[in-house]
Amino acid sequence: MVNDKKVRVTVDYFHCKWCEACVVEMPELFYYDESTGKAAAVSEPVDLSAELERVVSICPTDCIEISDP
Ligand code: SF4
Repeated sequence: MVNDKKVRVTVDYFHCKWCEACVVEMPELFYYDESTGKAAAVSEPVDLSAELERVVSICPTDCIEISDP
């Protein structure tokens, strides 16, 4: 389902195991954070797309969090 709802995306880097999946799947939204050695997400609100929901679902440690902007 695709809609125009805006959400804030954050990565719980304590639980991220840097499998790279989110960065490979959505490089426009996720990136490698040198300061933590883990994944991070852009800070501005983004559209809650079907692709984003899919990436959240494939994170092996379930550490990508979506919240209201
Ligand atoms: S998919 Fe999850 S565990 Fe893998 S790099 Fe991204 S946030 Fe970390």
